[in-house]
Amino acid sequence: MQDFDYCRPTNVAEVLALLRDGVDSKLLAGGQSLLASMKLGLMAPARLIALDRIPALRSSSEEQGRLCLGAMQTHGELAASPALQAWVPGLAQMAGHIADAQVRAMGTVGGSLANADPAACWPAGVLALGATLITDRREIAADDFFTGLFGTALEPDELLCGIRLRQPRRMAYLKFEQPASRFALVGVAVAQFDDGVRVALTGTSQGAIRLPAFEQALSRRFDPAVLQGLRVDENIMSADLHAGADYRAHLAVVLASRVVQQALEASE
Ligand SMILES: Cc1cc2nc3c(=O)[nH]c(=O)nc-3n(C[C@H](O)[C@H](O)[C@H](O)COP(=O)(O)OP(=O)(O)OC[C@H]3O[C@@H](n4cnc5c(N)ncnc54)[C@H](O)[C@@H]3O)c2cc1C
Repeated sequence: MQDFDYCRPTNVAEVLALLRDGVDSKLLAGGQSLLASMKLGLMAPARLIALDRIPALRSSSEEQGRLCLGAMQTHGELAASPALQAWVPGLAQMAGHIADAQVRAMGTVGGSLANADPAACWPAGVLALGATLITDRREIAADDFFTGLFGTALEPDELLCGIRLRQPRRMAYLKFEQPASRFALVGVAVAQFDDGVRVALTGTSQGAIRLPAFEQALSRRFDPAVLQGLRVDENIMSADLHAGADYRAHLAVVLASRVVQQALEASE
């Protein structure tokens, strides 16, 4: 790994000033993806700006009937959060099944969303929930946030500060794990609201996406049976040594049925 400078600002204004001073910098959250990329030589920033000393990014709050998560809250913290467990238990469960205890202790929701790994769980979760991503300068609907493989709408000098969630009637997430890392080969999140159902899929070659045909069927009747006959196009799925695109497409349909059943059972 190449040498780099390291700094630990204590507020958002300091972070933004550092991001704009012309030094080639990267924000460091939990480091679980960024440091691995640097060790592999895929990235070599001149400076890391650590976000771990900024209290405003580390807590959840309830505002006007919405739950707001801090970008620097870790997967482990959110899995155990009474507020998240009460608000969207399915999302807390999703966080609790990310990777292993070490990754969950360090990795953050903000880092995962900003990284937009096509095998990650949080992008599917926030997309299904129709969450709002709050940055230092604007609010971005989850539908507009993910722009493709490892791509987001964030500007290079933009800080993701939090995630605002409305409360669904039901929500569940289910993934088929790659056994070594526990990343999702395929993951499906479903959320039912009074005004319809949203379904999001992770494991595609373009990152997390919604499945409109599944949403329409489930909005008419929230029952796994209505998904019979629906397909996911294998041309949109990732393919690698762990699984081919046709297998992933098949898994996506199977998981979609199961996750609806899981959401129904969880709310009984
Ligand atoms: C073995 C292993 C297994 C994993 N399994 C899973 C899994 O099953 N499911 C899953 O979802 N994830 C999984 N992950 C990924 C894990 O969730 C990481 O925590 C996550 O991808 C990155 O979060 P981080 O906080 O470590 O971010 P970092 O690695 O610190 O940063 C990632 C990127 O986001 C940028 N960034 C970070 N925070 C911000 C911010 N607030 N604003 C703007 N940009 C920011 C950084 O500059 C960097 O480019 C796994 C990781 C490993 C190592």
